[in-house]
Amino acid sequence: MQWNLGKVFFGDRKVYEFNLLAETGHRRPAFINLQQYHLEHDMVARLRALQAAGASIDLRGAHRVAGVEAAGDHVALDIDTPEGPYRIEAEWLVACDGAGSPVREALGLGFAGRVFEDNFLIADVTMQAEFPTERWFWFDPPFNPGQSALLHKQPDGVWRIDLQLGRDIDREREKEPGRVRARVRQMLGPDVAFELEWVSIYTFQCRRMERFRHGRVLFAGDAAHQVSPFGARGANSGIQDTDNLAWKLAAVIAGEAPEALLDSYHAERLQAADENILASTRSTDFITPKSAMSRTFRDAVLDLSERCEFARPLVNSGRLSVPTIHDGSALNTPDGLPEGPARSRPGAPCPDAPLEPGFLLDRLGHGFVLMALGMPAPEVPGTAPLAVPAPGDEMRARYLGDAPRALYLIRPDQHVAARWADAAPATIATALSRALGATP
Ligand SMILES: Cc1cc2nc3c(=O)[nH]c(=O)nc-3n(C[C@H](O)[C@H](O)[C@H](O)COP(=O)(O)OP(=O)(O)OC[C@H]3O[C@@H](n4cnc5c(N)ncnc54)[C@H](O)[C@@H]3O)c2cc1C
Repeated sequence: MQWNLGKVFFGDRKVYEFNLLAETGHRRPAFINLQQYHLEHDMVARLRALQAAGASIDLRGAHRVAGVEAAGDHVALDIDTPEGPYRIEAEWLVACDGAGSPVREALGLGFAGRVFEDNFLIADVTMQAEFPTERWFWFDPPFNPGQSALLHKQPDGVWRIDLQLGRDIDREREKEPGRVRARVRQMLGPDVAFELEWVSIYTFQCRRMERFRHGRVLFAGDAAHQVSPFGARGANSGIQDTDNLAWKLAAVIAGEAPEALLDSYHAERLQAADENILASTRSTDFITPKSAMSRTFRDAVLDLSERCEFARPLVNSGRLSVPTIHDGSALNTPDGLPEGPARSRPGAPCPDAPLEPGFLLDRLGHGFVLMALGMPAPEVPGTAPLAVPAPGDEMRARYLGDAPRALYLIRPDQHVAARWADAAPATIATALSRALGATP
């Protein structure tokens, strides 16, 4: 389900709206709403297809990690299954076992940050309603006074409703279907017929581990960091973790890179986790003010935003997830194209752009790419050339700026490692080994 328009209400007034689709020339829309079970289903289907193609993947359901021992050259796991326990030794372990991470617990590692006490009710309802496909966020609405609410459309005729309930509530009572129905009816009005699909109550935390790499154990996703749901940063950042980690781990296992490359996983993704935690904590503080003064500030901003342009950027109903630019990463080569666009500087995720016959990101593949704009692509072992002799308007705007031509070294996770106005193959080879973790 694609959406671009977000509306913000304060009480019964619409005070502000924003359009996410700021730019054309992207294959993907700005945002997609997709239930996590669809994503998981598709991921399992993909694993099955890889298995069928001969990849060595084992999917083991109902196998629970019950114990972990980290040694210098391997990790030993005790696994419980309905048929009894067994032990395996792994060269590497990627712990993506969620916010409660038993692996993190077993290794006695901390998870520090802020815990928020407000409770939120999620009600997924099915209804045939005339609401447009937009994100609607309410502060202090008449149907949930003093609290907030969010309405979002999902695929399959499902609407997600989030209602803030406050602190110190009776969770079991609040989950009773009759009570939830009454709340939803108050929100949607008496004439809208709906069915409850799923109900849950959640609180949240903004926390992270101190290090994401502990020898041969690498933490990813909620196991490593957790944010509030405002901003859709949880699953998105978990997927970005795996984008960042998979090619590095593959290069280390294949002997193409030193183990030190894995420290850059920690450094880069810690930077991303901190960015996400900061953004999500700010949203949470705006949505659920913790003091009379913060509430006065929040309400004044909302009041003003209806009439005054300057107040609108201060409205924070969740700043939506964007990939992190890894400025300062040890894998980057200093910018050799300073007149180029800032958005595609070393460390940045590659912006997509039309590139006949399709789009750029589809052309990047899974290895290092040497993209040459307005010039032939030099041959450098370990890179695949991508020559763009006559870049279109979007490619020019996103990769050249005022420069007449450029060379980009792009990592397997589609982040820029280096760029130049021109470079000799030896310079490019040095940047490549730096991007693979060699000490410069
Ligand atoms: C209300 C709500 C709304 C959200 N909305 C969004 C959103 O719009 N966008 C977004 O990007 N994110 C959203 N998130 C966050 C998102 O759901 C999480 O960030 C994401 O699910 C984390 O994925 P994960 O794979 O790291 O962990 P999980 O999804 O928690 O998966 C962990 C897995 O590890 C398994 N496991 C645990 N212990 C063991 C063990 N001992 N042995 C073997 N396996 C084990 C579990 O069974 C589970 O399958 C939302 C979260 C909430 C609560």
